[in-house]
Parts: sequence; C-alpha cells; structure tokens
Amino acid sequence: MEGQAKFKCLRCGHEFNDSYDPKVIVERSCPKCKSNSVRRVKEAKESAKS
Ligand SMILES: [Zn+2]
Repeated sequence: MEGQAKFKCLRCGHEFNDSYDPKVIVERSCPKCKSNSVRRVKEAKESAKS
C-alpha cells in the first residue's frame, strides 16, 4: 500500500500522518521534538470486529 501512513514518535509519543512509499526509504523526524526515533504505525483492520 502506498500513500498516507501513520507514524509515531517513540520519544514523545506524538502521532502524525505522512506520505509513505515502500520503495523509498525516508529518514523521518518527529515534527514535535525533532527526534528521529519514528516508527510506522500499522492501523488495525476495521473488518476485524463482528
Ligand atoms: Zn517526538
């Protein structure tokens, strides 16, 4: 999947959306604290609930 993805800063816990392309490795930094400890958050599938 390409397009927008959700990211979370491991340092301050700030979550933000950014463009994401799996073919391109981008070094991201947190817009809030400038830390580069940013991980992509995998969103839960909405169809999981019954
Ligand atoms: Zn941060």
